[in-house]
Amino acid sequence: MRKIIIGGGAAGLMAAYAAASGGHEVLLLEKNEKLGKKIYITGKGRCNLTNDCPPDEFLQNVVRGGKFLTGAIYRFPPAETMRFFEEHGLALKVERGSRVFPVSDHASDVTKTLERACRASGVSFRLNTAVTEIAAEGGRVQGVRTETEFLPADNVVLATGGLSYPSTGSTGDGYRFAAALGHTLTPCTPSLVGIEAEGVSAAQGISVKNCVLTAKRGGKLLFSEQGELLFTHYGVSGPLILTLSALLSRDTPQQTVCTLDFKPALDEKKLGERLLRDFSERANEQMKNVMRGLLPAQLAMLVLRAAGIRAEKQANAVTQEERMRLIAALKAFPLKLKKLRGFEEAVITSGGVDLKEVDPKTMQSKIVRGLFFAGEVLDADAFTGGFNLQIAFSTGYLAGKGVE
Ligand SMILES: Cc1cc2nc3c(=O)[nH]c(=O)nc-3n(C[C@H](O)[C@H](O)[C@H](O)COP(=O)(O)OP(=O)(O)OC[C@H]3O[C@@H](n4cnc5c(N)ncnc54)[C@H](O)[C@@H]3O)c2cc1C
Repeated sequence: MRKIIIGGGAAGLMAAYAAASGGHEVLLLEKNEKLGKKIYITGKGRCNLTNDCPPDEFLQNVVRGGKFLTGAIYRFPPAETMRFFEEHGLALKVERGSRVFPVSDHASDVTKTLERACRASGVSFRLNTAVTEIAAEGGRVQGVRTETEFLPADNVVLATGGLSYPSTGSTGDGYRFAAALGHTLTPCTPSLVGIEAEGVSAAQGISVKNCVLTAKRGGKLLFSEQGELLFTHYGVSGPLILTLSALLSRDTPQQTVCTLDFKPALDEKKLGERLLRDFSERANEQMKNVMRGLLPAQLAMLVLRAAGIRAEKQANAVTQEERMRLIAALKAFPLKLKKLRGFEEAVITSGGVDLKEVDPKTMQSKIVRGLFFAGEVLDADAFTGGFNLQIAFSTGYLAGKGVE
């Protein structure tokens, strides 16, 4: 009997391919007018489709659901994803941090390759078709309802994605379908997203290429990494902040004590010597100008404020105590976090279908026979670097191979 895949994103397309190449009759339903609308915007339009690393390293980059995903990542690891795309005609390249992209730098080529592989295996597609309900009876899937008809199927793969970037079609429909069938949902929160912060909007637009972000909770170290950070109109974003957001997405950011080291290459002694040199060379200049050798102007103003030094103060009037405070503000600038930005801007949704109710070997529901899950609809997520699409591919592949 026919197998239905709901959702034509990364997970649904891979599930459709895996099921059809196993000899099943497969129909994929997608509510948008085209497939892979979200894939199109991934990796800034270039699609970082996986990370070229072994499974054990991969799993270290999974934030939630690592144990559940272990089998899927070993069975369909990044190397298999790369082989799949290359065998279906998409040349790949590996960039910094083992991030994998199509050589063409076009995310649309990733969707086209998935579609081509599906069609070659006999998958049928229906676009502009929104599923409204999954029908089940006696603990078994019977089919799906769309706005206009009932489509019978003995197996259904639910691959409707999460809640982030709802304009791409991820509007949380799958959570509602799963809950209606008795599945438990872990509350959804935005993840891999910018964080609102107090008093830094004056520095908006400034990107700091090389700083260390440290986060502590109750005195315990939560996170400390060197990298890039971007100041925005609402607070902070950029790679370091996205990673931190994944750790805070189910927490209260306000209780996290965050500091920024703007000069990680200089210890306090060396930084002190550097300041003394600058101050003596530019003794009659105002601090806001002297600081420009160290930081972009708007950021320098924030640092001076944190150190309690007037921007107009002359360098030769800065006291030793003020210099110490300036060193502290440069090495441990206090970043007061308020809250994570919303789903509209989040790369990923944290939360979703409770993994305890899903068989990790097949992605089949333990509650409703014939119902399978794949991709972001599951309560699993990872850091940036190609890991989230790989989760979609691995779970999609297992679900497609799991259909009976
Ligand atoms: C801006 C941005 C950049 C990203 N960049 C990367 C990256 O470079 N690398 C990476 O690994 N990850 C990246 N991600 C994350 C990645 O895109 C997701 O993890 C991945 O797309 C999830 O795939 P999915 O198939 O589970 O869900 P989706 O891609 O969201 O697909 C779900 C599909 O289901 C359809 N659908 C929903 N409801 C229904 C319904 N009722 N009936 C029919 N169809 C329905 C939707 O229209 C959609 O097409 C990025 C995310 C964003 C937002």
